[in-house]
Amino acid sequence: MKTSIATVSISGGLREKLAAIAAAGFDGVEIFETDFLAFDGSPAEVGRMVRDHGLEITLFQPFRDFEGMPEPQRSRAFDRARRKFDLMKELGTDLILVCSNVSPAALGGIDRAAADLRELGDLAADWGVRVGYEALAWGRHIRDHRDAWEIVRRADHANVGLILDSFHTLARRIDVDTIRAIPGDRIFIVQLADAPLIEMDLLHWSRHLRNMPGQGDLPLVAFMRAVAATGYDGPLSLEIFNDQFRGGSPKSIAVDGRRSLVNLMDRVRRLEPGLAIAVPDMPDRIEVRGVEFIEFAAEAREAGQLGTVLATMGFSLAARHRNRDVVVWRQGPASGINIVVNTSRRGLAHSSYVVHGTNACAIGLRVADAGATIARARALGAEPFAEQRLAGELSIPAIRGVGGGVVYFIDDALANVWDVEFEPAGPAAGAGLAAVDHLAQTMNYAEMLTWLLFYTSILRTSKSPMVDVVDPAGLVRSQVVESDNGALRLTLNGAENRNTLAGHFIAESFGSSVQHIAFAATDIFASAARMDALGFTPLEISPNYFADLDARFDLEPGLARRLQAANILYDRDQNGEFFHFYSRTLGEGFFFEIVERRGGYAGYGGPNAPFRIAAQKRAMPPAGMPRA
Ligand code: MG
Ligand code: MG
Repeated sequence: MKTSIATVSISGGLREKLAAIAAAGFDGVEIFETDFLAFDGSPAEVGRMVRDHGLEITLFQPFRDFEGMPEPQRSRAFDRARRKFDLMKELGTDLILVCSNVSPAALGGIDRAAADLRELGDLAADWGVRVGYEALAWGRHIRDHRDAWEIVRRADHANVGLILDSFHTLARRIDVDTIRAIPGDRIFIVQLADAPLIEMDLLHWSRHLRNMPGQGDLPLVAFMRAVAATGYDGPLSLEIFNDQFRGGSPKSIAVDGRRSLVNLMDRVRRLEPGLAIAVPDMPDRIEVRGVEFIEFAAEAREAGQLGTVLATMGFSLAARHRNRDVVVWRQGPASGINIVVNTSRRGLAHSSYVVHGTNACAIGLRVADAGATIARARALGAEPFAEQRLAGELSIPAIRGVGGGVVYFIDDALANVWDVEFEPAGPAAGAGLAAVDHLAQTMNYAEMLTWLLFYTSILRTSKSPMVDVVDPAGLVRSQVVESDNGALRLTLNGAENRNTLAGHFIAESFGSSVQHIAFAATDIFASAARMDALGFTPLEISPNYFADLDARFDLEPGLARRLQAANILYDRDQNGEFFHFYSRTLGEGFFFEIVERRGGYAGYGGPNAPFRIAAQKRAMPPAGMPRA
């Protein structure tokens, strides 16, 4: 599998783009004419620069408004083609993309277009280059790959082939199985892009909201299965127009791009075992069995404050690390929650503390096979992470997450880490909190797609459609990643500005991070009562909320009063009920949540988010005031 990416997909100057693309492991680039025109070197210099990075130019594009033109535009189009062919020779590439004509002057007719392309093929042969023809979804006459293929077929010229672009086919919901009827050697290049499913104008959708395969909602796997079935074995080239990417980090966008391609082809290979698809060998996506631990980095005094809050939630200091300044807080023996607090003056936790202040710097996931997880993560370009081990410590595989945090993987064989590395510090009683229900990670919106791909490509998880959460100061996009077995639930929140609570949290904590941790209670009213007795202060919810709740849901008598007394929010879906309450925010906006799901409730209390956010904002000291 040869991987390629269009220079237009990422930000930066041409030099910076090429460096990022090469570092991410791509084989080639599509040179976009605008990137080339903005560069202050000659075509030959650009070609040299590309090859110096170990890359090839897979495609030069775009060549617009060519086929079906009346004279004199037709002759002018051929003159333009000659100049572009000269340029391609200097650049050192042999393939140009001709996209279907959008000009109002264009004349229709498959045969007319085929004749024009055949003549262009003769010209291309003189220059020793090839022409690929692509149907734009909004072309004047040609907007379907089946018509484009028919034109290429009738042009019947060795130097003229078809270019497929997943966006143009999938955005128009064209049956992908029609691709299977095209001979693979007549497809000159395949361009790939995903996109969120939004009803909007095709041109705008394509130019601004494309994203990497797996980040959006289009059936890319089905598309690639059909392409693979043709025997096509040329480059797979990302062509992603996305405003966020153009403002993002070239390095991270390029890594995402390569990860998306390898992940996509790995999925296709598993569904089409009969086809020889060259993809790096790796284990299949890994089953997650739960959150094994959450590790906080803190300095001693703040660790004391965190411990005080944990104690009011029924946690006790249950074990101490034998060699390090690391402790574990737990509920009773029936609970699977491990809260690790790391006050080491060295290593990841310390550097994380220095940058972010007290924060959840690492999460440990319980997986079916830790070694296989790391092998897959590496094959997908994730950065392994290892701290120096002291005598008697286990080697727990880990990778760097998106915001500089770390994700550890623990399987059954490694789960004795708690006995091997820790010594018991005392019994834990608990407040009936059984497990981690979900983690909420907050990030800049631009980073959200990176996280999505990170989780869904490595672990057996899937994502929900994106929803908007209204913060009084702006919009926060929220998307859920869940393992198929429900053992891992993550809510990812992308903030677009720092005036939202989520945006404030990012600004104050210098980057994306775990913003809240939700624990599952077996009986939320009992947990609330126990925590109240331990001195826990819940986030206070407006009385108006509870009055409205009774009207909305027609609750059983007395329930609204019980909810209000404990500041418990309520939601219901077609399967069941959801009860949840929150801690006050700690530090710069981190908080805990306690939830109880009854029946098969599948959500996260989304309708209550505005009330929670309003309550948190009321509880925050005014700007400029010292915090209590
Ligand atoms: Mg395209
Ligand atoms: Mg939540």
